Amino acid sequence: MTDFPIPVTRFAPSPSGYLHLGHAYSALLAYREAQKQKGVFLLRIEDIDITRCKDEYIDGIYEDLKWLGLEWPEPVLRQSEHFERYDQFLHVLEEADLVYPCFCTRKEIQAEIAKSPSAPHGPDGALYPGTCKYLDHAERKARVERGDSHAWRIHMDKAVKLAGSLTFKDRIHGEVKVEPETCGDVVLARKDVPTSYHLSVVIDDALQHVSLVVRGEDLLHATHIHRILQTLLGFPEPEYLHHELLTDENGKRFAKRDKSLTIKALRENGLSKEDVIRRLNVDIEKI
Ligand code: GLU
Repeated sequence: MTDFPIPVTRFAPSPSGYLHLGHAYSALLAYREAQKQKGVFLLRIEDIDITRCKDEYIDGIYEDLKWLGLEWPEPVLRQSEHFERYDQFLHVLEEADLVYPCFCTRKEIQAEIAKSPSAPHGPDGALYPGTCKYLDHAERKARVERGDSHAWRIHMDKAVKLAGSLTFKDRIHGEVKVEPETCGDVVLARKDVPTSYHLSVVIDDALQHVSLVVRGEDLLHATHIHRILQTLLGFPEPEYLHHELLTDENGKRFAKRDKSLTIKALRENGLSKEDVIRRLNVDIEKI
């Protein structure tokens, strides 16, 4: 038996398209970090967006990663099978009065924002103007009971006060001060699914004992939200590695819509896994 927990890294794609070179880079880096620390590399399927995620893409993920030579333990966690678990943790936040139901439609939010020319903006655009935050308890309760469709938002200022000052440690970006208030009252459970990316990723990383979160720097701002959620839910703090995003020869980021640069297309065009790994320049020990 060891006194030290085993290092765990993970690759957590959303199966809403085929993997491209950027995904392969992320997966290979996470795999390499697990190898370097004699740890475990996990694959997790983040398919909470049930309308956009397809089994065909999940099969593609398995095929591509296996072709690249990666291995991971089974069973693979599929988030769509754990909605109840996310709901339980949401309930913990509800009991602590750290979330509130939001009945607004997208249109209503936009109209509210348009009314105030100096509406505060965050990394994802204008912040939620707080319309439902100020509903009184009786009205809130009545609307939930009558079945009005609602999302759940974090009460960010309350959460920040409770959590106090936080940081996270990133292998590339160093020690980063957590400023979740810049993201506003983000949605933790959507109207159509009983969770959100932020809530489920934090819960699963904790329950799967992920010690190093490797992902692209486009998600750096999300980590501010994740750190506060970890603190509120009593989860441990993982280390982070937010890597640079790969771009094509025109400097454009790879996206799921770039069909020609999917791993599947490269494979079908006769590239070997060694060609891909060389192009990505990740020093894998052996695969
Ligand atoms: N599922 C997310 C995506 O495919 C990544 C989640 C993460 O690495 O935290 O963009």
